[in-house]
Amino acid sequence: MPKEYACRKCHALTNGRICPICHSTDLSPNWSGLVIIINVKESQIAKALNITTPGRYALKVT
Ligand SMILES: [Zn+2]
Repeated sequence: MPKEYACRKCHALTNGRICPICHSTDLSPNWSGLVIIINVKESQIAKALNITTPGRYALKVT
């Protein structure tokens, strides 16, 4: 499994060099806690992390 990066701005996970959600290049290989958001409106985690797009996110990015 290739190393994934987490966006420091929106916490989205990606294999690429650019965040697929906010298009930031500020990515970090140091993250923990995988969260999969399917229904943004009904997810308390999405609310807490300010996530508005379904996808895979890191809980903590350092
Ligand atoms: Zn992002």
